[in-house]
Amino acid sequence: MKITKQIKIRDVLVGGGAPIAVQSMTNTDTRDAKATLAQIRALADAGCDIVRCAVPDMQAAEALREICANSPLPVVADIHFDYRLALAAIESGVDKIRLNPGNIGGADRVQAVVKAAKERHLPIRIGVNSGSVEKHILEKFGGPTPEAMVESALYHVGLLNDCDFDDICISIKSSSVPNTMQAYLLASEKTDYPLHLGVTEAGTEYMGTIKSAAGIGGLLALGVGDTIRVSLTDDPVKEVYAAKAILKAVGRAEEGINVVSCPTCGRTRINLIDIAKEVEQRCQSIRGKKMKVAVMGCVVNGPGEAREADLGIAGGDGVGLIFRRGEIIKKVPQEQLVDALMDEIAHYEGE
Ligand code: SF4
Repeated sequence: MKITKQIKIRDVLVGGGAPIAVQSMTNTDTRDAKATLAQIRALADAGCDIVRCAVPDMQAAEALREICANSPLPVVADIHFDYRLALAAIESGVDKIRLNPGNIGGADRVQAVVKAAKERHLPIRIGVNSGSVEKHILEKFGGPTPEAMVESALYHVGLLNDCDFDDICISIKSSSVPNTMQAYLLASEKTDYPLHLGVTEAGTEYMGTIKSAAGIGGLLALGVGDTIRVSLTDDPVKEVYAAKAILKAVGRAEEGINVVSCPTCGRTRINLIDIAKEVEQRCQSIRGKKMKVAVMGCVVNGPGEAREADLGIAGGDGVGLIFRRGEIIKKVPQEQLVDALMDEIAHYEGE
């Protein structure tokens, strides 16, 4: 795992070996502080660590004052082009700014934003995507290639470094999974700043989750990435669930129940599909535990196949087994199997 420079967003550490922080973005009108705060609270309940709000105008920058004062999560202001919105958002109390310094109209403006960010110890995320690469870089590389996106990010980094600013995080997103992965791998070679991973315009819940799992999950599995945002054309709470599932899948979740289940076969004599869904759903909200739970379709092979699970169930004909690390600890009537498993999970204290 690559150890990057560490930054701090309110009380959340990113990079430097800190746990991978989950981010999302509100899709309410930021000017409506009440609705935005309600969504932020829902995101926090789902397990989000950092939230970003779009700041399209001064009214939105003003509304951030109420949002930041009441948000349970650190708030990032998403700014495009207008440095006055960045200054107003900082004034309103945001915890981080997302902006590309090359797009705000000159060195004196960059200097003004950097000065305000420095005074309040606020990091800045540079967010490059395939559509934002500068003309001269596109010409040099013949298009928004991974190399072009990285060069663009480093160009913006250079502008901040010129102002003696180092509290930086970088994202380099493309809607192409291979391009996203190549760009982040290259960026990881070239810089030690923490990387915010994401696949942009990933799509609706199903394809967006798959693309994000492939891109974000693939990079995390290779040891690259410090914070993640799954982008979905859907309720942002679903982004948080997807992000947390990706962290579980690549073994980077700090807590949570990793439910594994067999694919069923001709030996299955129970409705394993519904049972697995119920277990997964009931485990989703459990906090403060980190364990692996197996849901297996038969008593003959289930406990053995899922030997590495902390706890598991195996369904038979009328009865089911509960096992711990492959050892059978209980036999219960099948209709009590899920309740009995949940009870074991609640009392499980680890090995
Ligand atoms: Fe089939 Fe049993 Fe293996 Fe499930 S655990 S796939 S039911 S053999």
